Formats: sequence, structure tokens, C-alpha cells
Amino acid sequence: MIVNCDVCEREFEVKELKQETMEQDIHRYYVECPNQDCQAEYTSYYSDPEIRKLQQEIRTLSEKHPLKAKQKDKVLKLRKKVQHKADLLKEEMHRGN
Ligand SMILES: [Zn+2]
Repeated sequence: MIVNCDVCEREFEVKELKQETMEQDIHRYYVECPNQDCQAEYTSYYSDPEIRKLQQEIRTLSEKHPLKAKQKDKVLKLRKKVQHKADLLKEEMHRGN
């Protein structure tokens, strides 16, 4: 994925998200502009232990092939839940800044 840095206005390729651990075991996933004189950081998302537990549940379920309709349903529901919780967490983290 090629993105445009808002700070130095140069393009760079996002290869992988970096991760840092914050207070209350919250993980922040972000990308960093590779230009030495810029290094602007862009937060992608946050996860807390509850979100990571749900993600693990999704992974475990998804490994079962083939998934029964009921299991597919569960995975969808879990994904929505993770999305919702991640949105709330991001909002909360940004409000604190
Ligand atoms: Zn930059």
C-alpha cells in the first residue's frame, strides 16, 4: 500500500505495522514515514486485552475448515464486535491527547 505523508508530502510504501505497548496493556499499531528528516507517525488502530482475546477467538474459529453456517455467523459477529470496540478505543485514546 502506497500512502502519502501529510507532513513531508512524500509517498512511501506501508509494509508492516509497527507496534508499541502503552498503559493498561493497550497496543498501538502504527506506520512511520521512512524519511529520516520526517518520521511522522500514523496510528492505524489500537487493541486492548479484550480485543486481542476476541481476535484470537476469530483466528481459532477460522482455522476450522469448513466452517458451519453457525460458525460463520459467529465469526461475522465477533468481527463486528472487534471493529466496534476498536473504534471506541481509538476515540477514547484520541480524546486523551
Ligand atoms: Zn514524512
